[in-house]
Amino acid sequence: MEQVKHQLDKHQVGKVTLNEPLNKYTTIKIGGPADIFIEPDGIEGLKKTISILGQEKIPIRVIGRGSNLLIPDEGIRGAVIKMGTGMDHIEEMGSKIRVGAGYPLVKLATVMSRKGKKGLAFAGGIPGSVGGAVYMNAGAHGSDISNILTRAHILFPDGTLEWLSNAEMKFSYRTSVLQSERKGYCVEAELQLEEGDPDTITEEMKTYKDYRRKTQPWSHPCAGSIFRNPLPHYAGKLVEEAGLKGYQIGGAKISDLHGNFIVNTGTATYKDVICLIQHIKTVIKEKYHVDMQTEVEIVS
Ligand SMILES: Cc1cc2nc3c(=O)[nH]c(=O)nc-3n(C[C@H](O)[C@H](O)[C@H](O)COP(=O)(O)OP(=O)(O)OC[C@H]3O[C@@H](n4cnc5c(N)ncnc54)[C@H](O)[C@@H]3O)c2cc1C
Repeated sequence: MEQVKHQLDKHQVGKVTLNEPLNKYTTIKIGGPADIFIEPDGIEGLKKTISILGQEKIPIRVIGRGSNLLIPDEGIRGAVIKMGTGMDHIEEMGSKIRVGAGYPLVKLATVMSRKGKKGLAFAGGIPGSVGGAVYMNAGAHGSDISNILTRAHILFPDGTLEWLSNAEMKFSYRTSVLQSERKGYCVEAELQLEEGDPDTITEEMKTYKDYRRKTQPWSHPCAGSIFRNPLPHYAGKLVEEAGLKGYQIGGAKISDLHGNFIVNTGTATYKDVICLIQHIKTVIKEKYHVDMQTEVEIVS
């Protein structure tokens, strides 16, 4: 990997480190080292990185703000590319904005609300990046990213860059085309916002945030919703009705506040969380004959 780092450094792609611990980059604070970790300093840096890693046949995993990820304590073999600073440009074009994949969603919602740009209030409590939100079609409070995205700029592993329209992104509940048919890296998104009153938008966001603080854990690290809602059921409600709230394996505990959140009480390992997820699945299947599908992405 030293040689690959040398090549990447020579091309000044951004920050490159070896054996970087990933628990620093996940909201649940779990994850061992990545063999090589790159934070590209722009689209060109990312393109060059993908090209060099491709030539060296090094597997690549892209992360945003790590708010939907469970990474093994042994870490990730190969390269992890973090879309963060360097990929967080923003450009306003009237009611449209073009924003880099590394831009934090919460910050975007806050900045836009102050400017009286409407459409992102739902995102004020989602701790992901713009790219992660596009990949996941992140949403809350009856809206999601697909409601405001006009097109997404995608870099494909062969080095081609393409703008995909909202329709081409094939958004659905917590999913997009990037998860299946067209695996690629979102480098920026174009969003269509409406004009609104800054105070009204800020008030709406505050209502959502207050609701979250009452219903979701905020004092311990977690990775958001563990399961997709097995509609017409709600995952959290099923877990609660099964009497599992507060159940703990090692340092991983089902939140006392919300049945669909697992918190790291301080010492949780990847294995603790996996065992707890399996336990929930088994109990829910036995009690309600429902198959629970994970929403959190489990890296194996
Ligand atoms: C407290 C808390 C509350 C949450 N509430 C919500 C909620 O209300 N609604 C909701 O939808 N989610 C919620 N989440 C989950 C999470 O914030 C979202 O899924 C978010 O979209 C993930 O973005 P990220 O940048 O953190 O992605 P990561 O966790 O870093 O990565 C998740 C996946 O996205 C991929 N990815 C990331 N960036 C890119 C990119 N640029 N291009 C292509 N693929 C990429 C990764 O490869 C990975 O597969 C919550 C999480 C937490 C911790």
